[in-house]
Amino acid sequence: MARIVMKFGGTSVADLDRIKNVARHVKREVDAGHEVAVVVSAMSGKTNELVGWVQNTPKVVGASSPFYDAREYDAIVASGEQVTSGLLAIALQAMDVNARSWQGWQIPIRTDNAHGAARILEIDGSEMIKRMGEGQVAVIAGFQGLGPDNRIATLGRGGSDTSAVAIAAAVKADRCDIYTDVDGVYTTDPRIVPQARRLKKIAFEEMLEMASLGAKVLQVRSVELAMVHKVRTFVRSSFEDPDAPGMGDFLNPPGTLICDEEEIVEQEVVTGIAYAKDEAQISLRRLADRPGVSAAIFGPLAENHINVDMIVQNISEDGSKTDMTFTVPSGDVDKAIKVLGEHKDKIGYDVVQNESGLVKVSVIGIGMRSHAGVAATAFKALADKGINIKAITTSEIKISILIDGPYAELAVRTLHSCYGLDKN
Ligand code: ADP
Ligand code: ASP
Ligand code: MG
Repeated sequence: MARIVMKFGGTSVADLDRIKNVARHVKREVDAGHEVAVVVSAMSGKTNELVGWVQNTPKVVGASSPFYDAREYDAIVASGEQVTSGLLAIALQAMDVNARSWQGWQIPIRTDNAHGAARILEIDGSEMIKRMGEGQVAVIAGFQGLGPDNRIATLGRGGSDTSAVAIAAAVKADRCDIYTDVDGVYTTDPRIVPQARRLKKIAFEEMLEMASLGAKVLQVRSVELAMVHKVRTFVRSSFEDPDAPGMGDFLNPPGTLICDEEEIVEQEVVTGIAYAKDEAQISLRRLADRPGVSAAIFGPLAENHINVDMIVQNISEDGSKTDMTFTVPSGDVDKAIKVLGEHKDKIGYDVVQNESGLVKVSVIGIGMRSHAGVAATAFKALADKGINIKAITTSEIKISILIDGPYAELAVRTLHSCYGLDKN
C-alpha cells in the first residue's frame, strides 16, 4: 500500500465523459489499496476564457487604463478548478468511492503575495493525511492557494503541475503521477515532430531545461520542487483505458519517470529539443563602450520585471562604440522600449531597434558536459537548411539558438534528426 498523488490536466477533464474516465483511473488506485489525493485543472479552454473576460472588462466599461486588480484576476481565474474538483468528487461518489473536494484556501496551500504568479510557501497536509488514512480521496483544485493577504492567489499558467508536486511533497507521497494528453515526455513536442520518441526516464536537470526552454508538458516550478523534494514523478496518459494491463503497475507504471541522473543507465549526449515562440530582439546601436553601460541598460529593465534572456555585444573596429542586442518575450517589447527611452541619456545610445516573432530552439542533454562538438553539429545542420542564426547562448547542458519565426518547425525537425533522436 502506498500514497499517490494523481494530477489531471485540462484536456483530461474537458467534459463529463472525460471526468468519468478520470474517476475510473482514481478508483483503480483506490481499489488497489492506495491512499490517493487528486489534483485537477480547469476544463481545457476554461482558464483562457476567464483570462479573456478579465482582460476585456476594463475596455468594455471604458476604463482609462487597461490595467486591473490582480487579486480580482485570481478570484476569477481560479474558479475553473473549483468546478472540476467538485465534479470529480461527485463522479467518484457515484462510483462508491469516498471523496470530497478541497479548494486551495481550505487546506490551506499558503503562497506568497505575487498574485497571478504566486509561489507556494507552505502546505499543511495533516488533515488530508488523516482523511486519506480513513479511506477518503482528497480532490484538490490545482493552480490556487491562499496569499498572505487572505485572498486567493494563482500559481501562473500551467500551475496545477506545481500544486500536485507540492502536495506530493507535503503528504510525503510515494509517487506523483501527472496525467495528460500525451503518454510521456518525448524527445521533442510530438505534435510538431511525429518522429519524436517517448523517453522512459529523463533527469531532473534535463526536464528543468526542457520546461524552461518551452516544453510546456510540465510547469518549470513543478520540476524544481520535484528535484528539491525528491518526488518520484511520472508523466503519463489519461486517455488510455484505466483498466488496461499494466496501468496499475506500482513500480513501473507506463509513462516517463523524472529522476536523478544516476538512475539513467544509458545516457545519450542529447536528450531533447525544445522551442519557445514569441521571442523578440532589441538592439541598442552605437553605445559608448565604457564600464557600467550594461548595468545602465539591464538594471532598469530588471527593476521593471522585464526578463532579459540572450545578450550579444559587438565592438566597433576602433573599440570606442558598441552595439548591444538582447532578447525579451514579445509581450514585453513595448514596455522595454519605454524603459530604455526613459534612461536614454544615462545609457547613451544612438538608436534602438526591435524585431518580434522570433523563436528560440534549444538542444538539451546532460551528456554535453563530457562531449565536444555538439554545438558545431547544430550550426552545420541549420546552415545546410539555410536557417540563419541570430544569437546563441550555451550552458553546460544546453545550447539555445535564436532564429526567425517561420523557420521554427524546420529547425526543430532538423536538430531532432541531426542528433539521431528520430524513431526508426
Ligand atoms: P495539461 O493540460 O495536461 O497540463 P499541457 O497542454 O499543459 O497538458 O501539456 C501537454 C502538452 O505538452 C502536450 O500535448 C504536448 O503538445 C506538449 N509538449 C511540448 N513538449 C513536449 C515534450 N517534449 N514531450 C511531451 N509533450 C510535450
Ligand atoms: N488551468 C490553469 C491553466 O490553464 C492551470 C493548469 O492547467 O495547470 O493555466
Ligand atoms: Mg499543463
